[in-house]
Amino acid sequence: MIGNDLQDQVALVTGASRGIGRAIALAIAARGGRVLVNYQRNAAAAREVVSAIEAMGREAMAFAADVADECAVQAMVDACLERWRRLDALVNNAGLTDDAPFVRMRPDQWRTVIDVHLTGAFLCSRAVLAPMRAQRYGRIVMIGSLAGLAGNVGQANYAAAKAGLVGLARALARETARDGITVNVVAPGYIETDMLATLPAARRRWALDAIAMGRFGTPEEVAAAVVFLLSPAASYITGQVLAVDGGWVMP
Ligand code: NAP
Repeated sequence: MIGNDLQDQVALVTGASRGIGRAIALAIAARGGRVLVNYQRNAAAAREVVSAIEAMGREAMAFAADVADECAVQAMVDACLERWRRLDALVNNAGLTDDAPFVRMRPDQWRTVIDVHLTGAFLCSRAVLAPMRAQRYGRIVMIGSLAGLAGNVGQANYAAAKAGLVGLARALARETARDGITVNVVAPGYIETDMLATLPAARRRWALDAIAMGRFGTPEEVAAAVVFLLSPAASYITGQVLAVDGGWVMP
C-alpha cells in the first residue's frame, strides 16, 4: 500500500527524466513528496514527469544540469532551496554507459563514465550537505550497480565508478551519521530501461539464465527499495548496499 510517509519532503532526483530515476521521482511523489526532476538533455521527458507528478496533486520542477558540472549542480540545489526552503533527500541516479573491452577503452570513455557517476555523486552530495546539516536531517541514496560489486565484461569504467560509489557512500555515512543524515546504496541488477536496450541479444540470454527469478527487473521495483531507504522506517540504516537483482548475485 502506498502511504504518505514522505509527506512534504523535498527530494532531488538526478537523471529523473527517464528509466529508474523517473520511477523514483513518481514513487516519491506518490508518497507525498515534492521532487526536483533533474535531467541533462531531454527536456520534454522531464516535463512529462513533472506533469505526471502535478496530476497526483504534488509539486515538482524540472531542472537541466550536468551532474558532473560543479556550477550547474550548485545552481540546481540553490533553485530547489529557493522554491521549497528545504532539501530532505538526494538520489544520485544520473548515469550512462560507454562500454569497450578493457584493452580498447579510451581515456575519454573512462573519464566520462567516472565523471558522471562518481564525480557527479560527489558534487551533488557535497552541495546538499549544508542544508541537510542545518535541518539535522537528510537522506542520500546512491544508485550503484551489481557491476560495481561483481564486475562486468566491457564495463571497467562503469564497474569502477559504481564500486567507487560504495566507498563514497560509506565514508559519507560515517561523516554525517551524527547530523541525522543516512547514506546508502541501492544496487540494481538488470532493469528494463533505455540503458538495457543496448545489451546484445546473446548477453540478454546469458543474463536471464543467471538471474534466479529468470526475468529482468522494472524501474518501479528499484524505486520501491529507494523510497524505503528515504522513509522514516529506514531511520537506523546507513552505509549499506541493497541489491535489487532478482537473485542474480548472492554473496
Ligand atoms: P536511462 O534510462 O538511460 O536514463 C538515464 C538518465 O540519466 C536520464 O534521465 C538522463 O537524462 C540522465 N543523465 C545522463 N547523464 C547525465 C548527466 N551528466 N547529468 C544529468 N543527468 C544525466 O538509465 P537507467 O537505466 O534508468 O539508469 C539509471 C541509473 O541506474 C544509472 O546510474 C545506472 O547506472 C543505474 N543502473 C541501471 C541498470 C539497468 O539495468 N538499467 C542497472 C544497474 C544500475 P536525459 O534524459 O536528459 O538524457
